Amino acid sequence: MINLERMTDHVEELVRIDSESRHEKEVALKLKAELEALGAEVSIDDAAEKIGANVGNVIAFIKGNKPDAAPFLLSAHMDTVVPGKRVRPVRTGKVLKTSGDTILGGDDKSGLSIIMEVLRTLKEREIPHGDLEIAFTICEEIGLLGAKAVDRKRLRSTDGLVLDSEEANLLIIEGPAAVRMEFKVHGIEAHAGVAPEEGLSAIKMASNAISKMKLGRIDKETTANIGVIEGGLATNIIPNLVSLKGEARSLSVSKLKTQIHHMKNCFEVAAKKHVLKKHGKKLTGKIESMIDHDYFRINLNKNARVVKLALEAARKLRYNLKAGSTGGGSDANVYNRWGIRVANLGTGMRDIHTVKEWLDLLDFERSANLVAEMVVLHAAN
Ligand SMILES: [Zn+2]
Repeated sequence: MINLERMTDHVEELVRIDSESRHEKEVALKLKAELEALGAEVSIDDAAEKIGANVGNVIAFIKGNKPDAAPFLLSAHMDTVVPGKRVRPVRTGKVLKTSGDTILGGDDKSGLSIIMEVLRTLKEREIPHGDLEIAFTICEEIGLLGAKAVDRKRLRSTDGLVLDSEEANLLIIEGPAAVRMEFKVHGIEAHAGVAPEEGLSAIKMASNAISKMKLGRIDKETTANIGVIEGGLATNIIPNLVSLKGEARSLSVSKLKTQIHHMKNCFEVAAKKHVLKKHGKKLTGKIESMIDHDYFRINLNKNARVVKLALEAARKLRYNLKAGSTGGGSDANVYNRWGIRVANLGTGMRDIHTVKEWLDLLDFERSANLVAEMVVLHAAN
């Protein structure tokens, strides 16, 4: 149904425009103009001021030509990871890749192009559809910040789709909740050579805690990591501060809670074990823990409308499509948190977040056809 040539030209145009997180303005203005040319009502929200980017989210409304059909949300993100400047796309056959020194930015410009191509196709073929709500977000890659800043009241859809994962034969309907954690281990500073008995080493406490900690893959549903550690000033100073940053994810809320508690506990036990007696007083290490809910889980039922639509569309097109889970997060986590049932469909992007990133144009085409078919079916039922 869709025009692969036109869609590929469009994604090439988009990837040539720099849009690392917080610098999405040029892409946003281009998409706004294109949406307006299709007759959409478009606005840019106030997310830029809220999160310190050079533009806000592009929110568009397209009036359907089937008034009784329910609205449907389509969303993709405009920002890319680094190195994402001066991308030069190279097309060979059914593969779009880079010259090898930058990412491609198919994550998530392939999603943007799929949505734009679907809208163009619906219009030029005068295909009946319901109202469509479009959200092109900023700052997805740095913690879903754009989506989190969308004014939820502006969206009427109860169902929708995010285009932001790899294989077009996978519809993500389950995704983990995730937390970011920061721990500060406080010890007591002392001269390492003159008065070591007057110090408590924060490095010893932190390493003791980590050696007892379950990290990596905890079980099928749960992962955890300590990814950053910083501390100490000089070899002759017993260090009084170590800062650590980590994360935990789980498809199960209770397992996530258990893991967070376990990690905090390892630090607290280690701090209490290190005791310094001074003037008849017992001094121990101290822990500060900061736990920040990064995103909430996706847990769509196979009977959810969007899942049924996708499977039905795949059947009609004779595509393979399975519903499954992911270990990553996307804007879909935010929409689901708000009660909008949004699944995440692959676009053909591959090896994302690396300079080897490429786009599988066969998958790209399939994904766009699926989305178009879903919009049609949504309005028909
Ligand atoms: Zn992405």
